[in-house]
Amino acid sequence: MHHTSIDEAKGPTEGRLQFSLVNMQIGNALVSIIQGDITQQETDAIVNAANSSLLGGGGVDGAIHRAGGPRILEECIAIRAAQGGCPTGEAVITGGGNLKARHVIHTVGPVWRGGSYGEDELLRNAYRNSLRVAVENNARTIAFPCISTGAYGFPVERAARIALETVREFLTNDKSLHEVRLVTFGETDFQAYARLMGEGSL
Ligand code: ADP
Repeated sequence: MHHTSIDEAKGPTEGRLQFSLVNMQIGNALVSIIQGDITQQETDAIVNAANSSLLGGGGVDGAIHRAGGPRILEECIAIRAAQGGCPTGEAVITGGGNLKARHVIHTVGPVWRGGSYGEDELLRNAYRNSLRVAVENNARTIAFPCISTGAYGFPVERAARIALETVREFLTNDKSLHEVRLVTFGETDFQAYARLMGEGSL
């Protein structure tokens, strides 16, 4: 139904190739899947897979704070003082500090506990609320990491399906976003998206 292709190898980034897979038009927006480092994306906003404390952590959270500098954490601390952290499935926004992105949207995905504790819906909320906050702040382009699939243990393929479905649903109603980029870090996440796209699941 949709055009699916592996576009090109975009040259070495930190010693490996960054592949760009699948550019798919949904409404006004392009949905793209790439393998790369989210801290290097030049989108208006990038999304951080944060934890509820907003005080930083490992994985993508650590990478974003390292690359973006102390300003982002200062803003997170101010948000925490004002509203007491960020509940699972919600999203808050800060500036991008030293990043190329103007904004960082911090969302909290669910910790995987076997699948019967509302994890799917909470992950859907994390994507949906991040997209909503991006639009409210006039972002036109946004990049996501694979929320919850690292330390939080959410099964990769199940998470990829939720990400794609939620983005598609959002874009059928929204006309302001121009690009939603799903950034995979490891090969496994990239393959999961590739398979889903190949199946025409979106
Ligand atoms: P969570 O706690 O939500 O599981 P993690 O940061 O542990 O978050 O992992 C989420 C995903 O982000 C994992 O797929 C991990 O491989 C990926 N990741 C880690 N560092 C980066 C990065 N610099 N750019 C993009 N993705 C990253």
